[in-house]
Order: sequence, then structure tokens, then C-alpha cells
Amino acid sequence: MTKFAVRLLLAFTLLAPTAFPQAKNVILFIGDGAGVSSLNAASIMGYGEPRSLYIQNFPHLALADTSSAKEWVTDGAASASAWATGHKTRNGVVSMSADAVRDQRDGEIYKTVFEYAQENGLSTGVISNEDRTGMTDAVVSAFYAHTNNRSKSGDIFLQLLNSKYGHGPDVAIGTGHKVVEAAVEAAGHHIGPEAKARGYAYVNTMAELSRIDSGTTRVIALLDDENFDFSEAVRQAVMRLSKNPKGFILVAHSDCHTGKTRTTLDRILNLDSAARAVGEPNRSNTMVLFTADHAYDLRIKGESLVETNKASDHKKIGSIVSLEDEHTAEEVPFLGMGPGSERIGGYMSNTDVFRVIMANFGWAGK
Ligand SMILES: [Zn+2]
Repeated sequence: MTKFAVRLLLAFTLLAPTAFPQAKNVILFIGDGAGVSSLNAASIMGYGEPRSLYIQNFPHLALADTSSAKEWVTDGAASASAWATGHKTRNGVVSMSADAVRDQRDGEIYKTVFEYAQENGLSTGVISNEDRTGMTDAVVSAFYAHTNNRSKSGDIFLQLLNSKYGHGPDVAIGTGHKVVEAAVEAAGHHIGPEAKARGYAYVNTMAELSRIDSGTTRVIALLDDENFDFSEAVRQAVMRLSKNPKGFILVAHSDCHTGKTRTTLDRILNLDSAARAVGEPNRSNTMVLFTADHAYDLRIKGESLVETNKASDHKKIGSIVSLEDEHTAEEVPFLGMGPGSERIGGYMSNTDVFRVIMANFGWAGK
């Protein structure tokens, strides 16, 4: 068989709409930069041994190519566009075709899996703790916005409020309060009244979010504190999104490439705890996915150093980890549990994240 025929056959069998049980909900966890070697180091730091993360025990796994349409080493914009639309694009571009030119020319707009979800009556949500502009960071904005430049946070936020298709994410919890608000104001808009007009409760702290009545299903929490409680954010989002009997899709993004070993690995452990807390009670009807936008040059290396791999020493992870603060090109884990995740296997493309979700719901994408 030709390589093309093998791919077609794989696509047909793995991604056929009716072949597997259907999940009502999908939660996609993104560990930014959390490649295979980062998960390994996080497990050793957290538990003193490999393979101990909750997500490392998901039954279905693939390795996903992350290259962009033009670059071997991707950024979050191109990678998230691939998950959101099923098409690879170039770095810096958000859910548009690869002939877009960053900050100069739009490409073709591809509809995102959130926009399909909204058309089909499901709820959608995003969470991000990216340090500067999490709410409009490319990794989450690829699901609700289209732009030729990932840095246009004011424009991106206004697209959250005024989506091209559908009614925008129902729940949005993310950092970037100062930067995003300033960018929106500079464009002559005001978040408070405009969010209210679009049916959102709008707050700026997790404490305020937790005080909003549990029946309120449209909320924007635009935060200052990047170290907000990630598990609590996921819990809040799922609690509100679950009110929709048709189901929901949630994308929860944690920045796991901070330039510092300890905080990077803590972020992975926190994301993993959040996945465990929400995965266990919802396992019968929810497909829980994990992937990374790209890998990161963080790994345990050096034969002699591995001798410190004892439970009592595992907190001293800094001494056995090598960290170069760079994105890397190799494939990343694409992991899944719950109904519909049976489609995950082998070497895949980051665009298959889109296909796995679309096939679960039986939606035909373009
Ligand atoms: Zn990234």
C-alpha cells in the first residue's frame, strides 16, 4: 500500500463517526511545552518514580507531530489552530490558512471545533494561566478567534465577545487582566458593559468567580494572578458547562514551560491533579484528552545523575534536570480516556485532535 493509502485507511478506521461510543463532553487539557520528557521529569519529581501521573495512565495514546505548515518547530498559535480547525497553519497565525501573512494579510478562515459545537447546541469553555495574556493567548484563542497575528489581544478579546460564528465561549477563565483590558480600551471598547450585554457575568478574581450563583452559565473571569488555583478553575468551568444537557467542550491550558525547572514541573503536577479531579467522576460520559502544543528542551539526562532517583531525593529535581528554554520539534503525547478516545493511537498529526473530537460528535468538518 502506498503511504497515502495507509493514511486514508487509518483515517477511515480510527476516525469514523460511528465506530466507537460517543462522549457527551470533551475536556482537552493542554500542557504548554509538556512533551514526553517533561511528563517523565514531573512524575519523578512528584512521585519519585516514572509513569505515576494520572494522564500517563490514560488507556489511549499517540505521538502527535507538531510541525506547523511552514516551520518544523511550532509555536502555540499554529499548533492550537491545528487542534481547533484540523488545518496546519504558520507560526503566529490563529485559525486561518497558511497563506496568511503575520500582521499583514488574512488567510482563509477555518471554522473551529468550538464553532461547530455552538452550532450544535453544546456549551464551550476556555481556561489559561499563560503569564501575560492568558485569556487571549493563542493556545485558547485559536478555538474562538481568527487573526493573522496572535499578539492582537484587544482584537482577540473582542472576538470572544462577538464571535464570527456562534455566541462565543460560555466560560472563559484566564489571566491578562491588565494587558487585555488596556488593549480593549485602546480599541475604544469597555469590557464590563460589553460582556454584560453579551450575557456574561464578569469578574477579575477567582474569589469573585466562586461567589457567582452556580446557575450562571456564562462567565468571564479575567484575572491578574497567573498562579490561580487551576483545579478550582476547571471545577468551576465544568460545574457551569455541565448545566447544558447537550454537553460541552472545555479547553484547559496551563503554561508548562516557564524557564524554571521547579515551576514548570509543578505546573504539570497541578494540571495532572485537575485532570484526575474532573476525570474520575465524569469518566462514563466525558472524553478527557491531554496533549502539548510542542515539546520543550527539559529532560533528565546524564547517567551518573540518575542515581539520585530515590524517593527521598526526588524533590531535588533541579540537580538532575537539564533545561534549555526552547521549544523542540519532536512529537508530543496525545493521550485520552473515556468514550471516543479509542480513536487515538500510533503516530498522528496535531490536526487529528480536531478529527478525534469531530468524529466523536459525528460532525463533518471542512
Ligand atoms: Zn507553547
